[in-house]
Amino acid sequence: MINPLFSHKKYWAHRFGIAPTLPMSREEMDALGWDSCDIILINGDAYIDHPSFGVGLIGRVLEAQGFRVGVIAQPDINNDADFQALGKPNLYFAISAGNMDSMINHYTSDKKKRHNDAYTPNDAYDKRPDRAVIKYTNVVKKCYKDVPVIIGGIEASLRRLAHYDYWSDKIRRSVLLDAKADLLVYGSAERAIVEISHRIANGQSIKDLFDVRGVAFVPTKIPDDFAIIDSSDVDKPGTISKLPNPYDTPEAADCEVKMGEQDASLSDAASTEIPVLFSKKIKPNQLNRHKTVINLPSYTAVVNNPILYAHTNRVFHLETNPGNARHLMQQHDGRRLWVTPPPIPLSTPEMDAVFGLPYSRRPHPTYGDAKISAYEMIKNSVMIMRGCFGGCTFCSITEHEGRIIQSRSEESILEEIENIRDKTPGFAGIISDLGGPTANMYRLGCKSREIEKNCRKLSCVYPGICSNLDTNHQPLIALYRKARQIKGVKRVFVASGLRYDLAVESPEYVRELVEHHVGGYLKIAPEHTERGPLDKMMKPGMGTYDRFKKLFEETSKSVGKEQYLIPYFIAAHPGTRDEDMLNLAVWLKSNGFRADQVQAFLPSPMSIATAMWHTGFNPLKGLRHKDEVVSAKDAHTRKLHKAFLRYHDPDNWPLLRDALKAMGREDLIGNGKKHLVPTHQPKNIDKPSAMNSTDANGTKNRNGAKNPKGQKHRAVKKFTTKNVFGESVATDTVKSRTIKSGASPKTSSKASSKASSKPPATNKTPSAKASRAKHRVQKVR
Ligand code: SF4
Repeated sequence: MINPLFSHKKYWAHRFGIAPTLPMSREEMDALGWDSCDIILINGDAYIDHPSFGVGLIGRVLEAQGFRVGVIAQPDINNDADFQALGKPNLYFAISAGNMDSMINHYTSDKKKRHNDAYTPNDAYDKRPDRAVIKYTNVVKKCYKDVPVIIGGIEASLRRLAHYDYWSDKIRRSVLLDAKADLLVYGSAERAIVEISHRIANGQSIKDLFDVRGVAFVPTKIPDDFAIIDSSDVDKPGTISKLPNPYDTPEAADCEVKMGEQDASLSDAASTEIPVLFSKKIKPNQLNRHKTVINLPSYTAVVNNPILYAHTNRVFHLETNPGNARHLMQQHDGRRLWVTPPPIPLSTPEMDAVFGLPYSRRPHPTYGDAKISAYEMIKNSVMIMRGCFGGCTFCSITEHEGRIIQSRSEESILEEIENIRDKTPGFAGIISDLGGPTANMYRLGCKSREIEKNCRKLSCVYPGICSNLDTNHQPLIALYRKARQIKGVKRVFVASGLRYDLAVESPEYVRELVEHHVGGYLKIAPEHTERGPLDKMMKPGMGTYDRFKKLFEETSKSVGKEQYLIPYFIAAHPGTRDEDMLNLAVWLKSNGFRADQVQAFLPSPMSIATAMWHTGFNPLKGLRHKDEVVSAKDAHTRKLHKAFLRYHDPDNWPLLRDALKAMGREDLIGNGKKHLVPTHQPKNIDKPSAMNSTDANGTKNRNGAKNPKGQKHRAVKKFTTKNVFGESVATDTVKSRTIKSGASPKTSSKASSKASSKPPATNKTPSAKASRAKHRVQKVR
């Protein structure tokens, strides 16, 4: 039984009314007539009162419940006063690192420090600490020992169980335990945080919240009515190697043991852990799933045994459908971590109500004229839905927002567009994006609620589109048509990632998109050309890409537009061999694509691809299959994989020549069109990286220096793309330009980052400029 989100009796403080923007200082509290805050949100981002930002949204949701909510944004962890600026809250502190995991925000996939932060005024990069959730919680606990601390947001969400941490290259404990917070709220947190707030306000304990979905905590006891099953009842990892015992003889250490025996040995190794007792034999499928908890391998076990880490990751992902997910339990150094099942998705009226709250849609006034890039990027865009059923293994959206699409109503979306038109300073009539985690999943989902409830698949579109999936794009087409009819709106672009395997199911949708919503270039994400890595990503093959490309080009032609697809690829994803990257490079060359920038796979916490990367096993399959996965981990191989994507960059040619020789592919070294790299290194060549791109025949760079055959220059243009969490971020890429001759014969395509179309910088239709292009450079994640 789920309480509708706004069905609770409002907290008494609702009589203070709605704040123009949530206060960040005592002075603002005084102006609102508040003597104290009920809840204080501490956040690693600048505070922006807008539903695209976690604290902006949760703040208004809690305010709508009647609570007085204050915000402390980007406090200095070396200055307690920052954390005391609003005094002691009556109910609790809620802490989040911000819209991104702080480590991903701070470091590139090569672990190099980034130099800007799109969520901070003027892109300053030093306004939040590494591992912000832990650091903020430590300071709050020091200053206010008796106030509950609840952690949430993407950083806490994706680190809720023991997880591999790429930056320290080790398994870390649940962030709840490392932070020593009282409670962790994961995923889209509205339901959980509203329920918890009212309970605290009513004087109830927030310990042992077994009946609240979407939370993690350390229980004081396990209720008698819960059945405990072992994770090996969900997925059998098969025979595994016994942990080495320093007192064993070598012969004894060679023995193999079964899963149950392995656990016993692990218990011995970690004698401080609480043993789990199995009192009776239970058939797991006959149990009430709501009253069943799966005992996962302990923190110590997953640290010591990669196959148990991969097994745990598989079980975790199998338990993500709110319709049938069970509770999870994992021991950490003598303490039990308990994770309740994922939240029930919001209904359309609830989504409408959340997005219809009185956001000012601006950064807090204290930031003055400072530019906050993430805000600039989304201020004229509208989120129409949440969630993604694609299940791409490198992406964290499913783990955070879930697979079930939560869509807003048409009326709510159109009203927000009118609000942007009426309230956004400088609005020039351009809606930069009508989208979400995936542009074309609006109102899509399983044909049957009952089937959906029972489904255990990790993707609705892999290995092919599920026969139960409703792929009707008509509601989205109708929405597009109405959006562009709104008075004062000149253009509506679709800049979110497009799932092209779904789009080809609806030629009418593709026509609508191509004719009205593509700004010259449409970015899509095949991610790779080779079946090996694609299967590890759960992505469709290039056959689907070719079908979409044909449809896109034919449709563009039929509506009189010259527009280009920009495919997007990942280097060094788990399952990628050197040969796969070579084949991808040959495909790029033969299709005339050149990457501006390349980004290699970044192992984000708890994703399936990260589990592959760390363990070398494939959690997509039952682990008894022992499907071993290669990963490019060492710096040289990662560099080589990236170099294949930028085969045209002279800086990479020596490395590529050596690799091609080692691979027995000297036939690709030479000066002909079919060769990947030239035989000799040209002298005095300008570095294309300085120009952010190259073309097939060479060109002059911005400084006027001449490239091998070059003639023309290019202009740098801002593109919108999405990071791993589906958040809009700015990226530089390069506009198309004329290639005079000799270019790859078939190609008239563009490229850039993850699937999306480029919003124009001006009100001009960009297709006129786009029509000059014969080749295109790309940005590759
Ligand atoms: S049955 Fe098919 S469409 Fe329905 S939830 Fe499962 S995978 Fe998705």
